[in-house]
Amino acid sequence: MRPVERGAAPQVFTNYRDAYPFLAQRMGDYCSYCERQIETHLAVEHVQPKNPVSALINSWTNFLLGCVNCNSCKGDTVVSLPDYLWPDTDNTLRAFEYEEGGSVKSNPDLDPAIRVKADATIILTGLDKDPGNPALDRRPTEADRRWLKRKEAWDKATRCREILAIQDTAETRELIVEVAKGKGMFSIYWAQFSHDSDMRRRLREAFVGTANNCFDHAENVQPRHGGQI
Ligand SMILES: [Zn+2]
Repeated sequence: MRPVERGAAPQVFTNYRDAYPFLAQRMGDYCSYCERQIETHLAVEHVQPKNPVSALINSWTNFLLGCVNCNSCKGDTVVSLPDYLWPDTDNTLRAFEYEEGGSVKSNPDLDPAIRVKADATIILTGLDKDPGNPALDRRPTEADRRWLKRKEAWDKATRCREILAIQDTAETRELIVEVAKGKGMFSIYWAQFSHDSDMRRRLREAFVGTANNCFDHAENVQPRHGGQI
């Protein structure tokens, strides 16, 4: 899950929907949780749900971007923020591992107390929903194709890595970053290029709104100042 920065509030909002263009411009039109690029139906996501937590309905610091699937999984669950990990305050790239086939799991190297929160975040947003999940209630609805899109992104990123190994030029690198930007799924490309700091730098710089304070000079993830991880 890409750590993001929304920056300071551009204005006072009286209708949260008006925040959408600012959020999309600053963080890209990617779902903050599943990371897919969404042309339409990407909505202003309320970290604390607008119903029943109406006090934060127009609060800039309560906004992320959410697709319909992540939104409907999270629903109106009132959350105690410190019980979960958040892409706008934590270095969520440290929290999760993206594996073969695009499945998402909490990072087994995490401190156990943090890992509980990483697992809770996966459940809250439904990122574990997969047709192969042994738990019936953790299988996706027909409308929820996030698992498939992750798998496709994983396969495409694998192919990109293979092509780069054959033809390693600046142009190939540039093209791969463009492919990644077009579909989103920053974390999957980040995982695939784990041994290539130049590709990681290119990805970090290309995905607008990636929180730069989550990385060191060698493009390793580092704890986020003020975050839980
Ligand atoms: Zn989503």
